[in-house]
Formats: sequence, C-alpha cells, structure tokens
Amino acid sequence: MKKTRRLEVRSVIRREGQAVASSSGIIIGRVQKLLHGRQPIPARGIVSELVEHEVTRLLDAIEAAKTDVDIERDHLSQVGARDSLMMLDVHRMLIIDPELLNKAVGRIHDDCINAEWALRQEMDAIQTILEQVEDEYLRNRKHDIEHAGRRILGHLIAQAGSADAHEAWSVDYSGDAGEQVIYVGDDFSVTDIVSMWRHGVAGVITEQGGADAHNIIVARGVGLPTLVGATGILSHIEDGDTIILDAEQGTWILNPPSNEQLAYVKFIDAIAASKKSLQAFACKPSLSADGHELKLMANIEFPEELDVAESIGIDGVGLYRSEFLFINETKMPDEESQYKQYAALVKRMAGKPVTMRLLDVGGDRPWLYRDLAGHHYGGANPAMGLRGIRLLLRNKELMKVQISAMLRASEHGAVQILVPMVTAREEMEQVREAVEECRKRLGIRQSVPIGAMIEVPSAALMAEEMASVSDFFSIGTNDLMQYTVAIDRNDEELASLYRAGESAVLQLIVMAASAARRAAIPISVCGELAAKPAWTSTFLNLNMAHLSMSLNNILPVRQFLSRENYKPTSL
Ligand code: PEP
Ligand code: MG
Repeated sequence: MKKTRRLEVRSVIRREGQAVASSSGIIIGRVQKLLHGRQPIPARGIVSELVEHEVTRLLDAIEAAKTDVDIERDHLSQVGARDSLMMLDVHRMLIIDPELLNKAVGRIHDDCINAEWALRQEMDAIQTILEQVEDEYLRNRKHDIEHAGRRILGHLIAQAGSADAHEAWSVDYSGDAGEQVIYVGDDFSVTDIVSMWRHGVAGVITEQGGADAHNIIVARGVGLPTLVGATGILSHIEDGDTIILDAEQGTWILNPPSNEQLAYVKFIDAIAASKKSLQAFACKPSLSADGHELKLMANIEFPEELDVAESIGIDGVGLYRSEFLFINETKMPDEESQYKQYAALVKRMAGKPVTMRLLDVGGDRPWLYRDLAGHHYGGANPAMGLRGIRLLLRNKELMKVQISAMLRASEHGAVQILVPMVTAREEMEQVREAVEECRKRLGIRQSVPIGAMIEVPSAALMAEEMASVSDFFSIGTNDLMQYTVAIDRNDEELASLYRAGESAVLQLIVMAASAARRAAIPISVCGELAAKPAWTSTFLNLNMAHLSMSLNNILPVRQFLSRENYKPTSL
C-alpha cells in the first residue's frame, strides 16, 4: 500500500525563476513537493502478526529520540544556551507524551499500518487541531509537534533492518512510467541529498541555500542536477506539475508549453553532444596549450564517485571530505572501520596522492556523533563557532582515532593529512604532536605530510608563520570567501555580493602562494573556485601544485586549460 499522489486538474500557468545551479544537467520532470524538509513517509499495510513488531519499533525510536535530546541537553547545558535548552525540554516532553504514543499504537493496531505512517498521521491530526485554536501561542505549538515527531520518525526510518530505511526517499509520485521526478522543498540536508541521489531522484530544487552551501557541493559531486535558492517556488507548484530544472543556467520553468519543452529537449541533446566531445579529454594529462602541467584532482565524498573518477582519469584525490563517509552513523566509527574505508580508497588510487581531511563538522554542519562533545553547539554564530579543528582539539582522543586510521591507510599509498578551519599556528602544532604520538604508537616509520587548509583569513594573513608548521597548503575558497566578505555561504539573498568578493579573496590567495613559495611547500586549491574556468589561468600562473574539484568539473577544466598559456606570476 504505497502512498500515491495524483495529478489534479487545475489551470496551469507558466512561471519561471532563477536560482543557484549545481552546474550540470537539465531535467524535464514532474514535481513532488516536500515541505519543511519533510521526508516522504513509507506507508505500508502490515499483516496482523507484525503489529507487535511495529509497536516495538515505535517504542525503540521514542527511546532513541529521547536519548538524543538528553545528550544534546548535556552539551547545551555545558555552554549555558538557555533558550535552546527550553526548546529541547518541550521536545522531550512531547517525545515521551503517553497520549501521542497511545494514539499512534492505536492506529497501528486498528488500521494495520507501519509505525512511521501511524505516527505521521497522528502528528498531522494534532497539528490540524492546533491550527484551529485561536490562541497564537498554542497555535504555534504545532511546530514543536513537527520537530519532536520528526526526531522519532528519523529513528524509525533509520532503524537497521527496516526495509523502509532504504525506501525512505524512493520516489512516490505516481506519474506515468518512466517520468522523472524532481523533489522541491524549502531545504534539504546533505544526508537528504545523498539519500535522494541513491534512490534515483532525478533532480532537486530548494528555496533556501547559496552558492557554496554544503548540500549543493554534494549534489555537484554526485552529479545530481540541483537548484538552491529558488526563492518563492513552493507557493507556485503542486505535485505532478511539469517543471524544467536547468542546472546549467540556474533556471526553472514551471508548466512550460510544449514548444518550450521541445526546444529544451534539443538543448539537452546539444549538451549531451558537447559532453561527448569532452570525452576526448578523458584520461589525458592536464596540460596548458604550451605544455605546462597543472594536475587536476578530485574532491571526493563517497566511494561511489570513484567509478566516475576512473572513467575520466584524475591525478589523485585532492580533498577527501572524511565526514561524509559515515554520514548515517550516530557514533564516531572506531579505528578499524575507519581504517578499512580509508585503506580501500588509498588502494584504489594505486599510488596517486590522496589528501584526507580530518573530520570537518560542527557549526552549520552539525553531525550525529553523540560522542563528539560540543558538535551540537554551534556558538552564537555557528559558522564562526566550534567547528573543524577547533572541535577536534576539544575531542583529542577521537581525533587520534581518526589520525591513527589515516596513518595505517598511508602504508598502502601516498596519503597526506589535511587540517580544516585552521586559524592559528598553535592548532597545527597540536595536530602535529598528535600525529607524531600516533605514528610512534603504531610503529609506522614513514612520516605523512600534514597540511593546513587556508580557509580562514587569519591563516592567509599569517601564511608565513603557518608555512613553518605545515608541509603543504590547500586553499578552501568556499570558507575563505564567506569569512572574507562576511556573508554566509548558504545565504541566497546575498549571493551577488558574495561573488563580488572574489577579487578580495585573490589577494589572500596571492599572500598564501607567495608564503608557500618562500617556504618551498606545495600549495593547491580545493574550494569551488578551483572549478571555475575564469580562474584556471590565475591558478596556473600562480604555480598551484594542483586544483581539486567535483568530478563533473574535471573534463571542462582540462579542456579549458588546454587553450591557456603559462605566464608565471612573479610573487
Ligand atoms: C572550502 O571551504 O573551500 C572547502 C573546500 O571545504 P568545505 O566546502 O568542505 O567547507
Ligand atoms: Mg571549508
């Protein structure tokens, strides 16, 4: 019994809008609307023998959601965030509310349905009642019901062994067979994007989000056509509407007339033809017109990306965002399981360099790891709070587990360790000490290069000092931009001003490049600017050791590079 949504007959009006594009792909598909990051809930009828099983699943999920809140509460009380504590208390009360539980259990029994669907229906029923209440305060409690309920739903969907865990994002729009489905919502997390991609969703549009938001970076990496910052789109669409998602030009067209659809089909064919011509650059060295090499490496988030990497030919992994590997875990994985994943990646790269970044979570990237003290606490301003290496240095033992796994993996190839969000020299010194300690404990003889990400302006301004404690630099232009121009990288409102900051960032990049040259250490770029053809010759002439980017950008940049000449910048 799968929930279906039918196309309603209503007048259709053509509309269009602009958004930030993931940079590749055009899809003509049908809309499925998902409000408030709401996952489609797997709705199943069950046989009566499974009723008790579903009730147990619900009880387990409630227990797990309560534990989450308790852990978050602990972290928050350490930092004295009083408003957030009060909100958590309300959520906790609702999670353990016996009435919600009893009514959901009643639905499982009476209607013979799965726990997710019973809970969702009960949440909707309570919210409908609250919407009709006159008192504004009470009316607003419907949001608390939604948040608390979603915590339980999240655990239900993720429960191991539940077939629904694999179905959670599977497409449930009942359009004609073969139609592509495009999910449209207010915002989707990185985890949502990955799950949608894994479940064959054709494209994604969100109202919120800016050019360098993490979710769009991931969408770019896996090649899922995505638009973010499509302000206002949700008020115009209905499930089943036809929409053109143009992630090449950053536009969407709702209810396009058939002649426009036909024109787009031709455009899609033309793009496919030009992509085919890019294949001439697959597995070729990355050379300028006059034969100067600028290595092109990949930013990797998921092992699935390596198949594509092999087909286009890459010079190595310039940024391995280790946090994405364990995206669905609630605890930091132990050394052995981390080692296995890292070693598999290193072996697959067969001697080509792999730059592994230490866990970069916290702030606007809150992770699920319960054992990582402080990760739910963003700070007064999460982007400027406890994230990246700041968070790891508060969790030194967990950091050493990751370092040890990376060091062991280094025995299979050319690994280097990259430190995220470095602000001051002392942070690099502390990481170096930890690496040395782990290396000695493990009896690993060879040393592994340890590099600093240059993504906080202070690191660029103090690049000379930073170079004295770093074996290499890697410029993270996404964060460097946001901290230089004081604009959140997720903020769609200020996207144009954000881009205007590129010339200011160039000055910081030049500072870092000249400090690297004086210290004779390699410097490279791994933020999104690395993939912009307008920057290719600048980076070539600044003698970057390599550029690292999402896989789907490698061939276009390789083609672009082949038309440029090398004119070294004097630093
Ligand atoms: C960056 O900040 O430029 C970067 C590469 O890291 P991330 O996008 O993962 O923050
Ligand atoms: Mg960064």
